[in-house]
Amino acid sequence: MTTQTIPAADTAGLPSGTQAAVLHGARDLRIEHKPLAALGPNDVLVEMRSGGICGSDMHYYADGRNGTNVLRQPTVLGHEGAGVVIAAGAQATVAAGTAVVIEPALPCGNCPTCLSGRYNLCPAGTCFGSPPTDGLFARHVVVPERAVHVLPDSIPAEIGAAIEPLAVAVWAVERAQVQKGQRVLITGAGPIGLLVSQVAAAKGAAEIVVTDVNDHRLAVATKFGATRTINTATEPLDLTNMDRLIECSGNTRALADGIRTLAPATRATVVGQARPTVDGIPLGFLQRYEIDLVTAFRYAHAFPTAIGLASSGAVDLPSIITGTYPLEDAAAALTAPVTDPTNLKVLITY
Ligand SMILES: [Zn+2]
Ligand SMILES: [Zn+2]
Repeated sequence: MTTQTIPAADTAGLPSGTQAAVLHGARDLRIEHKPLAALGPNDVLVEMRSGGICGSDMHYYADGRNGTNVLRQPTVLGHEGAGVVIAAGAQATVAAGTAVVIEPALPCGNCPTCLSGRYNLCPAGTCFGSPPTDGLFARHVVVPERAVHVLPDSIPAEIGAAIEPLAVAVWAVERAQVQKGQRVLITGAGPIGLLVSQVAAAKGAAEIVVTDVNDHRLAVATKFGATRTINTATEPLDLTNMDRLIECSGNTRALADGIRTLAPATRATVVGQARPTVDGIPLGFLQRYEIDLVTAFRYAHAFPTAIGLASSGAVDLPSIITGTYPLEDAAAALTAPVTDPTNLKVLITY
């Protein structure tokens, strides 16, 4: 019998603590020194270069909660993040110096749902930045190697955090089953809607109609694959025989009205955060025409596709980034999209 000795990782000179943006309660964000978790054999230590502000982060900051998840203890925010590996555990294979983006959801990996491949639905899963699990708005994080995806040279870590919302868009388009030549309606021209538009264009959609109530965002949409835009606050939604609806606004009316534009035997996909229960969805219409109503939650196996689309230029990642803030100004970053609604994706750049 032989005993295998695992060499200890060389941790000399590595930081034992770091600075992080810790949310203590609604509108109470503090930049604090936090100890770093020990580097386990399958972990990597990442020096962060970009962190993305998402609607959920803004909800936690503004209200101390996001939907049903309530902040009950101080938690580091952030689930969109990229950086450079500066140390790897003894059994990790990513080399120091490698730029990576972090896939924030950590499924258990062993339950029937995970084993079926739908790991985004794992009932026991956690997610960085979803209280009480600490997130990625820190100068350094220790994460399992399985959570990182290597970034090619064409996607610098300084913008790599935006791969996460692109993965949301990739999964949304996959769930929507967008096919070449189709007519696609996208409701909501926020960062996710604009990324969904680009991914649908890359899939070969023939027509992409984007709706919103903000003219600035609609003007941006025309640069991101939209062949037509409609401001539903001022214009009628005069569409018929659409093949796909991808709802990215979280607005119930947008979903209900969007469904009514669909042709028989088509599909509506809910991507924007849904309310717990909803009245006004035309269920009889869905049944009469066998229109499939499906949902998308985060993503499964979508990061490699997202990285490929951004790397090839099929999706213009830099153009959705409208602001960058140092970690010290994380509170300003968390309110920037509200303060200035022309903002799309706002990044923390450390
Ligand atoms: Zn997000
Ligand atoms: Zn699981």
